[in-house]
Order: sequence, then C-alpha cells, then structure tokens
Amino acid sequence: MYPAKFTYHAPWSVEEAITLMNENEDSKLIAGGHSLLPTMKMRLATPAHLIDMKNLRSLLSYIHDKGDHIAIGSLTTYHQIESSSLVKQAAAILAQTVSEVGDMQVRNMGTLGGSIAHADPAGDPPAAILASNATMVIQSSGGERTVAASDFFQGFFETAVGAGEILKEIRVPKFSGGSSYQKFKHPASGYAVAGVAVCLTKNGGNIGGVSVSVTGVSDGAYRANGVEAALTGQAFSEALAASAAAHAIDGIDALEDPFADAAYRGQLAKTLAKRAIIAAWNNA
Ligand SMILES: Cc1cc2nc3c(=O)[nH]c(=O)nc-3n(C[C@H](O)[C@H](O)[C@H](O)COP(=O)(O)OP(=O)(O)OC[C@H]3O[C@@H](n4cnc5c(N)ncnc54)[C@H](O)[C@@H]3O)c2cc1C
Repeated sequence: MYPAKFTYHAPWSVEEAITLMNENEDSKLIAGGHSLLPTMKMRLATPAHLIDMKNLRSLLSYIHDKGDHIAIGSLTTYHQIESSSLVKQAAAILAQTVSEVGDMQVRNMGTLGGSIAHADPAGDPPAAILASNATMVIQSSGGERTVAASDFFQGFFETAVGAGEILKEIRVPKFSGGSSYQKFKHPASGYAVAGVAVCLTKNGGNIGGVSVSVTGVSDGAYRANGVEAALTGQAFSEALAASAAAHAIDGIDALEDPFADAAYRGQLAKTLAKRAIIAAWNNA
C-alpha cells in the first residue's frame, strides 16, 4: 500500500526542523522510518508534512564518552550502538538489548531515538532505557529540557516528547555491575512478546542495587518495583530469583492479542525475569 500524500521537508538543522513542526501542525518527524513508514502505508498515520531528519545525521548521530555517562545522539542506529566498544563495556544492557531488535536490516536503519520516541509497547529499547536510568534531552523552540526515563514513557505510544519537540540525546549512566536482557520474540516480527532487563550490583553474596524493567506486557515499558524490592539487599540464590520474579506483573493488567493471552504473557514475564536476574548475577 502507498501512504497518503504529504509534503516532504529535509531540514539541515535541529532549529529548522522545530520551526517546520511549529509552522505545520499536522507534521511528523521521520528518522529510520522503520515504524513510521509501515504505519503510513497502512494509513494509520497520515501526516500532511513529513520532516525527514536524514540531513541531521552529522549532528545527531554520535556516541560520546562523558565521564560518568555515555551521550548518544538520537539518530544513532542500533547497529552503531551494538558495535560500540564503549557501550558494550559501560552500558552493556543497552548494547545487548539493541542487538536483539529485529534483524540486521532493521538495526542498520532504526534509531535509538526513533524507538523510544515511538514507545511501542512491544519495543525492546525502552526496557534498557528504564533499567539503566537513562535521561532524555528534548529540544523545542524554547530550549532544551531533560527528562528521566521514569517520567519519559507515558503509556500506549505516548512519551514526554510534546508537539514541536525533538528528542535530541539519550544519556546513559555508566554501569559496571551485571546485566541481562531476556526476551521472548514474536516469531514473525521479532518484537518482544515479553522482555525483561535487569541491572544489578553485588555486595558480597548479597544483591546491592537492582533495577528491573519489563516490556511487551503492558501499554508501555515499566519498572517492576515489586521485583526490585524483593531482591534488594538479599542473599542471592536461584530460589530468591524465582520468588522475586513472581512480582514481575504486580499491579499490571497484561496485554492480550491473538498470539498471547494475558495469563501466558504474565507467565512469560515472570520466567524471563527469573532468567534475567540469574544471568545478571552471574556476569556481575
Ligand atoms: C521488520 C521489522 C522488525 C522490527 N523488529 C523490532 C524488534 O524486534 N524490536 C523492536 O524494538 N523494534 C522492532 N522494529 C521497530 C524498529 O525498532 C524501529 O526502527 C523503531 O521502532 C523506530 O525507529 P526509527 O528510527 O525507524 O523511527 P521512525 O519510524 O522514523 O519514527 C518512529 C516515530 O518516532 C518519531 N521520532 C523519530 N525520531 C524522533 C526524534 N528524534 N524526536 C522525536 N520524535 C522522533 C517519529 O515522528 C515517529 O512518530 C521492527 C521494525 C521492522 C520494520
């Protein structure tokens, strides 16, 4: 299917892109196009103006070492991230998670910024963004603001990025503990039917700090606070991992679709949480 007609723009600066958005209410930014183009072809999105960010790659495609964190430009592709020795070493959860997105073609085109601005409930990267306590930098005509991951994802395809704003940079704190992303892939698309990301530190035989996030199960990725509370400060054992993982969907109404009903999805989340906790402990 062909998309509905639109006017095409290709600005050369972030400011020009923002001006175009402000001048054209019914506009959409396009990054890698791997979520937006399919929705336009299905006529689920029919923007009158398409603002292509291809000329902004030299400005917004980068991975920089900033001391205590890694700054990643929003147009950086999954493949650039999974190939970065800096990300693999200091933000392993992000490197592993993006390496599990789709296939190589998708990872060569899809961008980290596009994924998290899109906030697909079955997207993988939001799990890593939440578990790593990343911060998003958002620009509008009024200047820049920063938003913590915990405030960024706001439900079904909803984020803190508002009208006339561009997600510019993702700041990922460096982390030297153990981490793991465990995913059950949809067999056709590769999206997460359920996915769980865990980052933890060891304190002797005990778990020190821990963050656990879940994707694919609810209307957006979320932190599994019950799992975190059950693990924090406790002596590690596989039995502890299993009992803590049982809290993976506390307070959540799991999604249902023809591929996975709510009970199955919820059970997947618990099983994947247990695996991710054990794997993170073993590589901490
Ligand atoms: C065959 C296939 C398999 C896939 N498998 C997976 C998978 O297994 N796991 C997974 O997580 N994803 C999967 N995806 C989706 C893929 O990860 C997309 O690349 C990603 O969701 C969107 O990134 P993008 O750069 O393509 O964004 P686009 O499609 O260009 O944009 C997506 C949305 O974000 C907005 N946007 C983009 N960039 C910005 C920005 N900087 N600031 C503000 N708004 C912005 C756009 O306006 C649009 O609304 C798959 C896609 C395909 C086609």
